[in-house]
Amino acid sequence: MENKLSFYNTLTRQVERFVPREDGKVAMYTCGPTVYHYAHIGNLRCYIMEDLLEKTLRYIGYDVKRVMNITDVGHLTSDADTGEDKMLSGARREHKTVMEIAKFYTDAFFDDCAKLNIKTPDVVEPATNCIDEFIHMIEVLIQKGYAYESGGNIYFDTSKLDEYYVFSSQSEKELLVGVRDDVGEDTNKRNKSDFVLWFTKSKFDAQELKWESPWGLGYPGWHIECSCISMKHLGEYMDIHCGGVDNIFPHHTNEIAQSEAYTGHKWCRYWFHVHHLNDKSGKMSKSKGEFLTVSLLEKKNYDPLVYRFFCLQSHYRKPLEFSYDVLDNMGAAYDKLIKRINTLDKDGAIDEAAYAEYRKRFEDALCDDLNSAMAITVLYDMLKADISDATKYALAKSFDEVLSLDLTTAKVKKDEDGGVDSELEEYITGKIEERRNAKKEKDFARADAIRNELLEKGIVLEDTREGTKWKKI
Ligand code: AMP
Ligand code: ZN
Repeated sequence: MENKLSFYNTLTRQVERFVPREDGKVAMYTCGPTVYHYAHIGNLRCYIMEDLLEKTLRYIGYDVKRVMNITDVGHLTSDADTGEDKMLSGARREHKTVMEIAKFYTDAFFDDCAKLNIKTPDVVEPATNCIDEFIHMIEVLIQKGYAYESGGNIYFDTSKLDEYYVFSSQSEKELLVGVRDDVGEDTNKRNKSDFVLWFTKSKFDAQELKWESPWGLGYPGWHIECSCISMKHLGEYMDIHCGGVDNIFPHHTNEIAQSEAYTGHKWCRYWFHVHHLNDKSGKMSKSKGEFLTVSLLEKKNYDPLVYRFFCLQSHYRKPLEFSYDVLDNMGAAYDKLIKRINTLDKDGAIDEAAYAEYRKRFEDALCDDLNSAMAITVLYDMLKADISDATKYALAKSFDEVLSLDLTTAKVKKDEDGGVDSELEEYITGKIEERRNAKKEKDFARADAIRNELLEKGIVLEDTREGTKWKKI
């Protein structure tokens, strides 16, 4: 198939034309949430933009298999090997077991995703399901000389690789080594950049879940799970690996080190990273400031899809600053858009040429480094264009396969006073007039169709001696 999608590949540091290994098929992997707390809307920005990528791929004809892990063990409070397991701190906070916490927040995550119209990946696998696979990969890494035991833990030996810092330029590499100098010295490590594959004798004795392994009772490091879970479901090759920019180092850097050492060949060609959502004081996090969740937005009367709309208006490679003022503006624009689409008469002939032209413009915007804001501009241009309502409606429905904003199904919001705006009023009176003419011409089928069409939009007609009246239900 024709390859027309381009996006920024962090590995090659350029916008690249996407060519999957197998024609027409895409193997895609996403780092899933660490389920020790609710996802904040920053985390969810990442999943919205990955959802956009997956849906764009499907829209232009690819058959996508997408896999996601659920991190329920091994992710320490620092992304490196220090601190304690985030799951443990979550369990302690709520006086529950790690597995109770994991179940609760995994469900909460998918509830939030559903509200944001984020499709659930084809495969979702919790890390604690795959302990045997982790042990197997670590054993092979030891056999091949890429891993060693020290002080009871198993470490990956980064000095065995030709290149470890695969994502960074030379100056960034120096900085990264510097960063790791600050990390509390783990004297078991042969090299500063080595990382843990399996913990046994560590200072994290309080760890709740531990498993038998050839190296003693212990638990896996965070990075190994993504290498193993992706290979379990996608095999030894993958086309696109996704995550937030904070995952580039150390998490994705370590995933590549393990996976390529294990397989002996290149693993994944395209790395797609989403930039952060910031609040006024910087990167949004679960521990800082107001903990912004989907439920909080709902409590404040925001439709979660307005947040999706907000995210789609910005480019995935740019940091996005959150503010309620901007969200208010987005909400007003979203309501107007839904009302506009709701007034379209979906019955009638579709102008095939116009349909093809706008669909192409929409695809071109997305294929140009996933320019979702431009794709939304195409939607607005299309709604203004001199083409039939039925064509517009069909296009809006089609674009929504990617945008997922409920463009043709969302309920039109009543105004503050419960009324309707003038555009809608004009539309309803036009329809009543059309129905009156249909009746005059004894075209009762058409008259009924108009009544039903309005009913679908929540408008009931009532024929009285004074003429036809209408009300909202
Ligand atoms: P976690 O649940 O902490 O493992 O994070 C889940 C995903 O959210 C990861 O891919 C992170 O890179 C991403 N992420 C974390 N913080 C933010 C943020 N403020 N904005 C966007 N994405 C984020
Ligand atoms: Zn991962």
